[in-house]
Amino acid sequence: MAQVEIRHISKQFGDYRAVDDVNLTAANGKFLVLLGPSGCGKTTLLRMIAGLERPTAGDILIGERNATRLHPKDRNVAMVFQNYALYPHLTIFENIAFPLRVRGAPAAVVEKKVKWASSLVGIDHLLARKPRQMSGGERQRTALARSLVRDPDVFLLDEPLSNLDAKLRNSAREELRQFQERVGLTSIYVTHDQVEAMGLGDMIVVMHGGRVRQVGTPEDIYLYPANTFVAHFIGSPPMNLVEGDDRILGFRPESFMPKTFFAATDAVMPIDFTVQRVEYLGGDRLLYGTTRAPLQETRVIARLPANMVYSPEAGSTEAFAVRDQDLRYFDKNSGEAIGTAAERPRRLAHG
Ligand code: ATP
Repeated sequence: MAQVEIRHISKQFGDYRAVDDVNLTAANGKFLVLLGPSGCGKTTLLRMIAGLERPTAGDILIGERNATRLHPKDRNVAMVFQNYALYPHLTIFENIAFPLRVRGAPAAVVEKKVKWASSLVGIDHLLARKPRQMSGGERQRTALARSLVRDPDVFLLDEPLSNLDAKLRNSAREELRQFQERVGLTSIYVTHDQVEAMGLGDMIVVMHGGRVRQVGTPEDIYLYPANTFVAHFIGSPPMNLVEGDDRILGFRPESFMPKTFFAATDAVMPIDFTVQRVEYLGGDRLLYGTTRAPLQETRVIARLPANMVYSPEAGSTEAFAVRDQDLRYFDKNSGEAIGTAAERPRRLAHG
């Protein structure tokens, strides 16, 4: 196990800066997720940690060592890709044993390590099979076990669940998380899927255009986005953003409710809301519409629990509100949050 520290790392491809002065720390034994839209530089960053890509500038420390110029095989990191190729003609046992065989490990060590790694991922009863006799999820676990037998200090994962169908992804995500907690291995995980990031990460690094836009726990990032990019990128539907005279006002769809549902003692901002369309999603309803006084007309979305007794007509203007504590403010020019850092402890203290 080891901590990974990234110091002022940049990567230039010709004129293009794919990773731009990134600083971050993956704490020992924790699960760090790199999240961002396609092309934001997350895979390039992960490949630099693995040693597959040479940084243009900056340093990478793994444990106590400066690993910036180390060969990938000397970094003691394991990397699992989206396309994990298993050898079709080898058994699952031999697929997992492969990295050990290459190193010439004694048979007894191979046996012990394969048993250990395969039971960690729950496929120790399938070792005699060939990959084609395994489900997608089981093949995925085989790839994980194979990367574990080398006792890596750090586990690097690049969208390893993206080949699985939606249902399997959920269970594989849960398994991966449980397994990571059991082995306590420092893990860095790349994804563009915010649900995956929120479910897996102890810490999330939101990237955009090669830069880090926010680092925080899933709760921090959702409740206190550092800028309008994060506010809009995280959450589905995203945070509503309404431009005012001097700043941008933000509020989550679930914070935007009919005024009558707040207690008289709640400090709220009343906002009139013209409902255009109602969408039923089972547990929730999404109300699409437009803000009115005191805000300027902007398209926003409200999310109401389906069991809330309230049925607005499409086209009607309703008295809605947002609790003061759920309002966020952003600088109109820079998009950076105003006051968030200073106000956060007080807000959390008040529940
Ligand atoms: P995705 O989710 O689509 O994989 P990503 O965030 O992982 O995206 P990267 O693969 O890190 O993005 O790529 C970042 C940017 O750098 C992209 O614009 C990509 O086109 C560019 N890039 C990556 N590798 C190279 C390369 N070898 N040569 C030139 N440009 C590259």
